[in-house]
Amino acid sequence: VKLSDLERRVCDLIASRAEELYANLERAVAIPTGRGHAPGLQEYRRILMGRLRGLDALVQVREGADRPRWLALPAEEEGEPARVPQPTVVARHEGAADLPRVLIVGHIDTVHDPHGPFQTLERCDDGARATGPGAVDMKGGIECAFAALESLRENQIECNWTFLLNADEEIGSFESEAVLREEAAKHDYGIVLEPALPGGALATQRMGSGQFKIEVHGRAAHVGRDFAEGVSAVNELARIIVRLSELSDPKRGMIVNVGPLQGGGATNIVADHAACWGNVRFRDEAAARTLAMQIDALASPGKGELPRIIINRHWNRPAKPLTPEVERFAHFARVCAEALGQPLPFASTGGVCDGNILQAMGLPTLDTLGIRGGNLHRTDEFIEIPALVDRAQLLAVMMMQLRGSSIAKERSSR
Ligand SMILES: [Zn+2]
Repeated sequence: VKLSDLERRVCDLIASRAEELYANLERAVAIPTGRGHAPGLQEYRRILMGRLRGLDALVQVREGADRPRWLALPAEEEGEPARVPQPTVVARHEGAADLPRVLIVGHIDTVHDPHGPFQTLERCDDGARATGPGAVDMKGGIECAFAALESLRENQIECNWTFLLNADEEIGSFESEAVLREEAAKHDYGIVLEPALPGGALATQRMGSGQFKIEVHGRAAHVGRDFAEGVSAVNELARIIVRLSELSDPKRGMIVNVGPLQGGGATNIVADHAACWGNVRFRDEAAARTLAMQIDALASPGKGELPRIIINRHWNRPAKPLTPEVERFAHFARVCAEALGQPLPFASTGGVCDGNILQAMGLPTLDTLGIRGGNLHRTDEFIEIPALVDRAQLLAVMMMQLRGSSIAKERSSR
């Protein structure tokens, strides 16, 4: 496959802006958006909303839902200020009615400490790479998508797209899940700007993920005076944890991880309260259901008896298996990449992202179309600088090819 003259022109325009892309990313990275830092999230969101309006999009801000309170870990409860639910930006650009509708999804939050020493984008490795908080996950990917859409617009190439920007992906997208689901149902293709896997690979399947908290209530008693009257919540939780540890079966695609823990208050009092938090991973819906049943079965049946065991859980990221539709979409992306001289290998991962939620709504989604780089979530997180241009070009060519491709027609005629 060769690029058309028009595609070539769009790609040349992107390449001519390499310095501008880098400067935009530098500005974005310097705004701290980690750990629910509201002023930074607000500032970055404001800048991106301005660019979306410049692209002639109808920009809406949707209120964030409250996260279930049981998700808060002991460390979060102490000291940290309560998290303010963050809104989600939904910017819709209508090109022409008969073109496929593409949902582009990015998250503006990072995992980094907004007050720590890692705050700016710096070139390293003789200028081949740059390191900075959120550079690869995923402010670099967001910049690539803007560069692609802006270059398409300047060449008067119409597409139908919606750009959704949430601010809670790194903590499970509980605040934005409803908006993600609603928008997924309105589109034909999903593109998520998570960074490429090592070697620039495209994730074609992902495990699902869920969170749980198990709370145990017992009866307090003084250890020396009336030990026999006590019902230890800690001992019961210990038995539960042993059972949880036996549920993991990686060969069947089921993983249960327990931690952190909480329990008791003093060594000479039988603990009347204990709790554990945990995370599950599952390969498919069947594994998700099995884990749900097994964990729910740990709850105490009666209300009055002690110890009383309460289960809270939410499987917030459904498994993202390789469906025939996704496979076709992935091959389509590969054809676009190869036309640009970029290899696009496929891989699978146990990691999760918003692509899991989109695809669970029936939207064929590719979710590693952001930038290339590595060391995500670490303070040596980096991007490959040339990938700013490469990956913006890939997104632009994909958007152009989707306008007329056979996979687009298949999907729109459903
Ligand atoms: Zn991410």
